[in-house]
Amino acid sequence: MAKKIVVIPGDGIGKEITDSAVEVLKKVAEKYSLELEYEYKDAGGTAYDKFGTPLPEDTLEACKAADGVLFGAVGGDKWDNVEPSLRPEKAILGLRKGLGLYANLRPVKVADSLTEYSPLKPELVKGVDLVIVRELVGGIYFGDKCESEEFNGTERAWDLENYSVPEVERIAKLAFETARLRRGKVTSVDKANVLATSRLWRRTVAEVAKDYADVELNNLYVDNTAMQLAVRPTQFDVIVTGNLFGDILSDEAAVIGGSIGMMPSASIGECTSLYEPIHGSAPDIAGKGIANPIGTILSAAMLLRYSLQEEAAAKAIEDAVDAALAEGWRTADLWHEGFKKANTEDMTKAVLAHI
Ligand code: NAD
Repeated sequence: MAKKIVVIPGDGIGKEITDSAVEVLKKVAEKYSLELEYEYKDAGGTAYDKFGTPLPEDTLEACKAADGVLFGAVGGDKWDNVEPSLRPEKAILGLRKGLGLYANLRPVKVADSLTEYSPLKPELVKGVDLVIVRELVGGIYFGDKCESEEFNGTERAWDLENYSVPEVERIAKLAFETARLRRGKVTSVDKANVLATSRLWRRTVAEVAKDYADVELNNLYVDNTAMQLAVRPTQFDVIVTGNLFGDILSDEAAVIGGSIGMMPSASIGECTSLYEPIHGSAPDIAGKGIANPIGTILSAAMLLRYSLQEEAAAKAIEDAVDAALAEGWRTADLWHEGFKKANTEDMTKAVLAHI
């Protein structure tokens, strides 16, 4: 039976980069005899212009019924003055809530041909291949909060961090399953020397680990993890952590890769999962045909791996991207003298040539 992929190009460079990723999906589907169907839906500013809402009900319903969602990006100056509840970015929050997207997976893999773009020394980033698994719907971002109250004669504010055992179990299982598809190592990150929620987190992850004897588990404090990512990032395979720590560490890890245009992500859902590059809609280059499509192409590979369990096809896309980069193809965001200058279409063709 055909698998249904909802494609949401969104705004700005969204259409250009999702078009590239779909071309790559079509080629890999042909090679691996996969039956994939594509349904295009609106979200973001484009949807607001057409329907007066950034996330039409019809888009959300189609996503719920799909096997996976490929998302471009939303937002742009054009909608700066739209009422806050109707801004394009609200589409992302609506999809997170509507699809129950409880985990964010951000791989950071530095191809040998790209080590020069990292702010870290090439010898430190050579071979980096890690995934951050971040809990997305719990913790301090969603706990009770107080914007302002009087306390002991002064003003204060507070945010409450809380995690339940089932919330931690769910994300820990995902991390162990992810590690099984990779090098079999999970690093659980917390601040158990100070925080009660971290102690429950650590205890619960250790319990879940008993069902995954084939996966190695170690624990690290978040402050140490931040340092280790900068001094020896190759030691990590899968990092699992809560919402707040994950937010910070995943941005730190993303810069190790060197280019925002290259980085994919997956948000794992209770029903459907969503795949998107980590960058935004890049309004400054939209419509010029020069956007780097690789973050979106690699997001499509993640969709094949995590939603359709098509590991060989996913790997074929990743290898084709590596091969195109090794041949010297670079989009404008990465190009310098000595490389082959590619626009979005050239880069897509260079990837397709290796599938
Ligand atoms: P951005 O990621 O869109 O762009 C930052 C810089 O990186 C820009 O100079 C841009 O040209 C460049 N860039 C980004 N992706 C690129 C690519 N694929 N190829 C080449 N260069 C690329 O971030 P921003 O400028 O802060 O935000 C622009 C809009 O995107 C805003 O409306 C913001 O709210 C929105 N946004 C959306 C998402 C999302 O849809 N998930 C994420 C972040 C930002």
